[in-house]
Amino acid sequence: MTLILHSKDFETIVSHCKEEEPIEACGIIAGQIRNCDGKIVKEVHRIYRCKNKLHSPIEYKIGAEEQLRIFSEINDNCLDLLGFYHSHPNTSSNPSKIDEKRANYVGYSYLILSLHPIKISSWILEQQGFFTKEKLNII
Ligand SMILES: [Zn+2]
Repeated sequence: MTLILHSKDFETIVSHCKEEEPIEACGIIAGQIRNCDGKIVKEVHRIYRCKNKLHSPIEYKIGAEEQLRIFSEINDNCLDLLGFYHSHPNTSSNPSKIDEKRANYVGYSYLILSLHPIKISSWILEQQGFFTKEKLNII
């Protein structure tokens, strides 16, 4: 699978994550899933900023009400839920132990932005506790 992220959306994620520093920023990504020559391509069309309910530099949580509201907005806009993003203010863009423990949307993308230096990686949650890296194209 490949995730396509437009550079303006990448910039939106970076500025959101910088604003929230030193705590982790988080949000939801939505767009369209296409089959392109037998390959699944997911293109991000909307970024939804969320509040980090934990207000922490090492973990995040999106509130249930906020998440539900955004999921229904995604439906109303005829988009597909693609996954989530969050920042790592102090560590790499690899999933942390906490991410492995908490993430529960199997098959969805988890974008992680490391802030020092700026680096973004996309991960697919293959099964609870296990991520694999996903190809990410910023266009
Ligand atoms: Zn994390």
